[in-house]
Amino acid sequence: MKLPRVHCPKCERPVAARPIPGHLTKGAVWRHDAPTLRRDTDGRLLSCGGSLEVVELPTPGVQLTFDVEAPEVEPLDAMALF
Ligand SMILES: [Zn+2]
Repeated sequence: MKLPRVHCPKCERPVAARPIPGHLTKGAVWRHDAPTLRRDTDGRLLSCGGSLEVVELPTPGVQLTFDVEAPEVEPLDAMALF
């Protein structure tokens, strides 16, 4: 499964985001390392503060809309079409 990419709200790097069940447009930023310090002094991995943060997912497509003006008057031969 290919996950959409979003920009992490903390470090601005492009990171995968997993969908959140029940929320079509929301996703959780995938856990990723901190941008400057990957491990603390004890050797434990450090996550970026933006990991698991809820963000808006990019929409795959947007429904196009058209501005169509309805005719103001009905054509005279409209009834002839029926
Ligand atoms: Zn980040």
